[in-house]
Amino acid sequence: METIRFDELDIKPQIMRGIRDMGFEETTPIQSQAIPMVLSGVDVIGQAQTGTGKTAAFGIPVLQKVDPSSRKTQTLILSPTRELAIQVADEIRKLAKYMHGVKVLPVYGGQDISRQIKALKGGVQIIIGTPGRLMDHLRRRTIRTDMVNTIVLDEADEMLNMGFREDIEDILDYLPQEHQTVLFSATMPKPILDITKKYQQNAVTIKVVKKELTVANIDQYYYDVKRKDKVEVLSRLLDYYNPKLSLVFCNTKRMVDELTDELVGRGYSAEALHGDLKQVQRDRVMNHFRQGKTDILVATDVAARGIDVDDVEAVFNYDLPQDDEYYVHRIGRTGRAGRTGKAFSFVKGKEVYKLKDIQRYCKTRILARPIPSGDDVAQVKAEKIMEQLGRIIDRENLDSMIELIEQQINASDYTAMDFAAAFLLREMGLDEGPEDGQTFSFDFGDTGAEEGMVRLFINIGKKQNVKPGDILGAIAGESGMPGNLVGAIDMFDKYTFVEVPREYGLEVLHAMKHAKIKGREVSVEPANQK
Ligand code: ADP
Ligand code: MG
Repeated sequence: METIRFDELDIKPQIMRGIRDMGFEETTPIQSQAIPMVLSGVDVIGQAQTGTGKTAAFGIPVLQKVDPSSRKTQTLILSPTRELAIQVADEIRKLAKYMHGVKVLPVYGGQDISRQIKALKGGVQIIIGTPGRLMDHLRRRTIRTDMVNTIVLDEADEMLNMGFREDIEDILDYLPQEHQTVLFSATMPKPILDITKKYQQNAVTIKVVKKELTVANIDQYYYDVKRKDKVEVLSRLLDYYNPKLSLVFCNTKRMVDELTDELVGRGYSAEALHGDLKQVQRDRVMNHFRQGKTDILVATDVAARGIDVDDVEAVFNYDLPQDDEYYVHRIGRTGRAGRTGKAFSFVKGKEVYKLKDIQRYCKTRILARPIPSGDDVAQVKAEKIMEQLGRIIDRENLDSMIELIEQQINASDYTAMDFAAAFLLREMGLDEGPEDGQTFSFDFGDTGAEEGMVRLFINIGKKQNVKPGDILGAIAGESGMPGNLVGAIDMFDKYTFVEVPREYGLEVLHAMKHAKIKGREVSVEPANQK
């Protein structure tokens, strides 16, 4: 669909300067349609996927309409999270860089309210707030609505998901009779349509259809990977493509934690992002990622929602998303702002059908790819290192080093080529044993189990009224291992030995860390030799 130049729209020169500073060249499709509509003053419903520039789609007209000579609050923007509220405020401030006298302030829960009240006292025309906190200010009358002429519900679907419906309705009820209501959302489930019916008048709907959403400039591949090999394959892909920033999606918080641990254990710079983290922790993780201190963010869908980082070069669906629409949300984090990105999905067995559904739904193609072999990865790594060495050779004076090497060559049977090759091997991290990308297996040592199995010790037994079925159920329920693979279960009064296949040993150990059997937390360890 049409994108146009911003100067084809009737935008004030000061705002145009801000837009130019931000490096925007053309409007996105939602912007080309929404900006004139919002400017015209009618109620608007805007639907477009994540990453399509919805913030500026309402931010620009809101700025155009604001009266800088009045200090009264004129626009309220509702945002689902603190993170998003701050992002929206930042984007609008950038757009308003050359507009004098326009104040923009985010208000959100978790921040000291008296600080916000102080900031509000100076007069703020545009307020971006999470619904709960905004309602709090309205009740305290620290935010007044008598001059509010525009309200924007941004990421409306997410606000409803987070249970803000009542607050939103309360806020809408606070507004003066005459005002414009603008709603933006990536999806339009029924509860949103209910709100639009109740609170908007003759609303114009603008919908940017799915196929021209974010997936256009994203190369999408899938790999047929067994569950137990996923970490290994992910590592190879990370080594092979060496993306600057990567997002890895898992379907559960636990998987996020486990995978992050495994990646860190393998020497990657990875951090976890999920709903169990406190806001401060989330902020810290996000900042690390944004600044490139962390290369890999492992996240759940909800936690990653609205992440606004432009340099994400690769998105991995470590688990396939449960909902087709999430696929678009997830991979939309890469290939932003005209860049190309890559999306990799891991599937096994029947999941291929799910992938077919996703392709149909997103009108896109996801191509099968062979997993890079250990050799492929080594080749890429070697090339990268040689490139870096080339730069060092160009830049540095190497005379004294050359002298040292010459001394060594003269004193030994090695050639300069031998030394160079050994250095390369070490740089590639391949000097210790045959670490050539063979499948990773944790060494349990001898646990006294049958061949191919590991024997685990669990500190719960008959005295606690536990039956073998409880143990089996807990293992099958907590780990991804099918129950029929559980081997011998030996129960004693206060403890139990259970055998599981060696390749599942680590996963079961991990999974059981969080497990309860008969309501009790248990500890599970590899058993000692009999
Ligand atoms: P959405 O709310 O639709 O998920 P955002 O408003 O957060 O998307 O925009 C995503 C990114 O695209 C931001 O970094 C934003 O600055 C950038 N962006 C927005 N409009 C344009 C444009 N016209 N050209 C280039 N980049 C843009
Ligand atoms: Mg947005």
